[in-house]
Amino acid sequence: MPAPIYLDYNATTPVDPAVVEVMLPTLTEHFGNPSSDGHAFGWVADELVVQGREQIAAALGAQPETIVFTCGATEAVNLAICGAVEAYRGKRDHIVTVATEHKAVLQACEVAERDGARVTVLGVGPDGLLDLNELRAAITDETLMVAVMWANNETGVIQPIHAIAEIAHEHGALMMTDATQAVGKVPIDVDAAGVDLLACSGHKCYAPKGVGALYRRRRKPRVRLAPMIVGGGHEDGLRSGTLNVPGIVGFGKAVEIAVTHSDDEASRLAALRDRLEGALLDRCSDARVNGTTEHRLPNTTNMVFPGVRTRDLLPAMRGVAVSTGSACQTKTAKPSHVLTAMGLSGADAFASVRFSVGRFTTEAEIDRAIEEIAAAVEKIRTEPVTV
Ligand SMILES: *Cc1c(COP(=O)(O)O)cnc(C)c1O
Repeated sequence: MPAPIYLDYNATTPVDPAVVEVMLPTLTEHFGNPSSDGHAFGWVADELVVQGREQIAAALGAQPETIVFTCGATEAVNLAICGAVEAYRGKRDHIVTVATEHKAVLQACEVAERDGARVTVLGVGPDGLLDLNELRAAITDETLMVAVMWANNETGVIQPIHAIAEIAHEHGALMMTDATQAVGKVPIDVDAAGVDLLACSGHKCYAPKGVGALYRRRRKPRVRLAPMIVGGGHEDGLRSGTLNVPGIVGFGKAVEIAVTHSDDEASRLAALRDRLEGALLDRCSDARVNGTTEHRLPNTTNMVFPGVRTRDLLPAMRGVAVSTGSACQTKTAKPSHVLTAMGLSGADAFASVRFSVGRFTTEAEIDRAIEEIAAAVEKIRTEPVTV
């Protein structure tokens, strides 16, 4: 059996060989601790971190000193939400977020709530988009933060971040966005978008697992945060712990590559995604796309094959690696909270598959995947599996 075709790039990505190449020396000769300021081993490591910070800041349209390195987007989200709640305690205590957020955001909001904050979770339309009038109605002068993801990991739906930020700012609230799926896929500019806090992750954009970043605006306004991890005072006191130099070097190179090739790569990915989606819509009767196809990441499609449960479908298409719901929750037998928030029935949510293509996906792979998926759907529909 040939290796399965990987169509799950939104779950994680392989590390780009060019990223591996720049990381290797950081594991061996350039192994120093960037905090060791008394010798050359430390200086070299510190220079590597400076460069990684510059590369990531540049990819976000930000200044290097606004970047706080973390171990991933989950930690960055926790620091942004819980750290702001603690820092602004007694001043503002209300968070507005959306039902389709990643669990990192939703759970951090629950922790904040237990800590005394008030949280409003807005719904979305069948298209997956937030209603800006509902947002306007939810924000008050006590709202500390509006937390809305840039692009959804399950559907690829892109929220109107700039418009959301404008509404947040009218009321003096901070705009926080989980941009984990957007960084490296669509152009990001924190100033143009009006974002005050932005979380992202290395392993979603061809860097290794275990590194991420939080962008924190430092001027107009200066966003205050309380640290979640204390110790040696690294990262401006916001995130103690020896810096992950290999991860930071890899993350920096990865975003640099992504930004350099972004336009060509986005259209190549969209063409592959559209080829897959179009063929499956054609060949699998009553298949539909979940969410808007207008405001969407170029690499993602989430499709429902009504009546075809993914627990039957996936074993019938072992040659294709895909995801149902969120990879972080595949062990729970609950339908995806993202899809149910968009109004899908439990049955349709359990019959939905996320396909996400990426840098190493080829047209030949897409054509093989189409055959295998269409055959599996057909097989299940013609020989129904009993419960
Ligand atoms: C993957 C993902 C996360 C979590 O990122 P980690 O770096 O794995 O912690 C958060 N938000 C979104 C939208 C994601 O896709």
